[in-house]
Amino acid sequence: MVKDRVALITGAGRGIGAVIAERFATEGATVVVADIIFAAAEEIVDKIRTSGGRAEAVLLDVTDKPQTVELIADLVKRYDRLDILINNAGITRDALAMRMKEEEWDAVIDINLKGTWIPSQAVIRPMRRQKWGRIVNTASVAALGNVGQANYAASKGGVISLTRTLALELARSGVTVNCVAPGAIMTPMLETVPEDMRSQYLERIPVRRFGTPEDVANLHLFLCSDLASYITGQTIFVDGGLSVGM
Ligand code: NAP
Repeated sequence: MVKDRVALITGAGRGIGAVIAERFATEGATVVVADIIFAAAEEIVDKIRTSGGRAEAVLLDVTDKPQTVELIADLVKRYDRLDILINNAGITRDALAMRMKEEEWDAVIDINLKGTWIPSQAVIRPMRRQKWGRIVNTASVAALGNVGQANYAASKGGVISLTRTLALELARSGVTVNCVAPGAIMTPMLETVPEDMRSQYLERIPVRRFGTPEDVANLHLFLCSDLASYITGQTIFVDGGLSVGM
């Protein structure tokens, strides 16, 4: 579905992004594994190469515009194209709204929202030129509202609006822009939540299981394929039905 495509995935040094990178490489894409921690990106690239895939590691802070613009220009020069951008990097800094510190608000909006905008803007020209492109952003069920996550929910709500607007602006260029909104996905972050809290949360998920990074990566694969060329501006929840009841 993504064979021979060149894909840049942000925040891919671990978690969901790492699994997307591995999956895309298995499907024959050349994957650029970008992370703020270079060693983490290198580890994923080693794994991919050991399994026979094509990948390279790059250091990227998605809030650093000059660095991002330079990286994308360099990739386009070296590969002669950049087909897929997956804006996956994201953080949480949870606190009740009345106690939230300005730094917590700023950090989350900066990385999750501005850090989606900066790489997206940088790929617009090359993707328009090649008349084909896929941008997939990352929201969350928390965009619908979640106690203790005013900053995170607002950032992910912003990502959904950004997705819709970019989709309209790029609709006639062969570039689609969509958004994946995961629910509770079993990553190291969720594994640290105490067992009793996890089982309470599980009760709220209609399919009664936590998602896996592979569940999320499957949707990325579809959205980045030619099968999804008529889908743009959409936010699709990968949440076992959790958002339906919200
Ligand atoms: P994760 O394990 O924390 O991975 C995110 C990666 O992004 C980390 O390697 C992180 O580096 C990196 N990163 C942080 N700031 C960055 C920056 N400025 N530039 C580049 N990379 C940066 O997170 P995840 O659970 O896989 O989540 C991936 C995405 O899915 C996020 O956008 C998250 O909001 C979203 N999501 C996750 C869940 C879930 O249940 N896991 C649910 C809904 C939505 P560090 O190690 O230095 O932080």
